[in-house]
Amino acid sequence: MKESDILIIKTWKKSIELLKLEALLRRLSKSHPKRQLVEKDYAIKSAGFRGELSLDYPLGFLPEKDYLIFHNIRLKFNDNYFQIDTLLISPKFILILESKNISGILEFDHLNKQLIRTFNDSINVYPDPVQQVKLQRFQLGSWLELNKITTIPIKTHVVVTNPNSLIRIVPRNTYYQKKIIRSTILFERIKELSTQFNNDLLSRKEIRKLSNLLLKLDTPLNPDILKTYQINPNDLVKGVHCPSCDTIPMARVRGSFLCPQCTTISKDAYLASLSDYALLVKPTITNTEMREFLLIHSASIVKKMLATLNLSYTGTTKDRRYHLPSNE
Ligand SMILES: [Zn+2]
Repeated sequence: MKESDILIIKTWKKSIELLKLEALLRRLSKSHPKRQLVEKDYAIKSAGFRGELSLDYPLGFLPEKDYLIFHNIRLKFNDNYFQIDTLLISPKFILILESKNISGILEFDHLNKQLIRTFNDSINVYPDPVQQVKLQRFQLGSWLELNKITTIPIKTHVVVTNPNSLIRIVPRNTYYQKKIIRSTILFERIKELSTQFNNDLLSRKEIRKLSNLLLKLDTPLNPDILKTYQINPNDLVKGVHCPSCDTIPMARVRGSFLCPQCTTISKDAYLASLSDYALLVKPTITNTEMREFLLIHSASIVKKMLATLNLSYTGTTKDRRYHLPSNE
C-alpha cells in the first residue's frame, strides 16, 4: 500500500446472517409454520442494512486520506463479542456510529434506558442505542489498550437514518440531544470533531497496524440458521432456484436450467443453489447430496458440474466430500 493511499474500507456487504435469512426464505414454503417469524426477523435485519448503506452518502464527502471507514466489525473481548456498525478512524480520534433505520415516532426514554417506537398504533420497545454505543466505546477502548494501540479519544453517535421518523427525547436531556443525530448532519458533526481534536495521535504506521488488526480479528456472526429456528433440513424446498425470480425448481433443458415462471434460461443457475446449500445445510457436499438438493437425477451430470467447479475435496471416490466456497 502506498503512503498516500491510506483509506481502507471494509465495505458494506450483506452480513452472512442476512444472506442466510434470504436463502432460508427462498427455500421455506409459504405455509411453513416458521415462515412468519423468519420474515419478521428478515424485515428488521434488512431495514438495518439499508440504514447502514445510507450512511455511505454523508461519509462519501470526507477527505479519503484522513479517514478509514470500517463497517460491521465484530471483535472479541473478554470472552464476549461486540459489534460496531460503522467505525471511523482518523489520526486524531475514533468515531463509533450506530445507525437506526426505524420509522414512526422514536421516543428515547433515557430514564428507563429504552427506545420506544410507535408506528400505526403498534408499540415496540428496543434497547437504548445511546447506552449501546457507550458500552461499545468502553469495549473498543479496552480492546485497543489490550492490543497496545496509543490512547486516542473515542466519540460515539447514534444516527437516525430514516428521514421520516420523529425523534423525541423524554424527558429533555442535552447529552441525548447531542448523541442522537440525523444522517443529514453527520458530515458537519465529523468536521466539528476534526477541529475539536487537532493533534495527530496515531501515526500512519499505527493506523495501518490498527486497520490490519481489525480486519484480521473481525469475526462475523455466523449462526447455524436451521438450528436457530429449529427447522429440519428436510423442510427446505429442493431444486435449482431461478436467479431472476427465485422460483424453485427450474427445469433442466438441454444442459441449461429453464425457469417455468419467467422463462429465464441459465447454464450456471445451480451455482447459487449450491451457495444456498452451503449457507443453510453445511459447507461440504457429496454427489448424492447435491443430486437430492438440486433435484438432478444423473450422477454423471453432477459429477461433471463438480469437476468444472474445481473444488477441493476429502474422502475416497465413493464418498468424496466437496468443499463449497465460503460466502464470507
Ligand atoms: Zn424465474
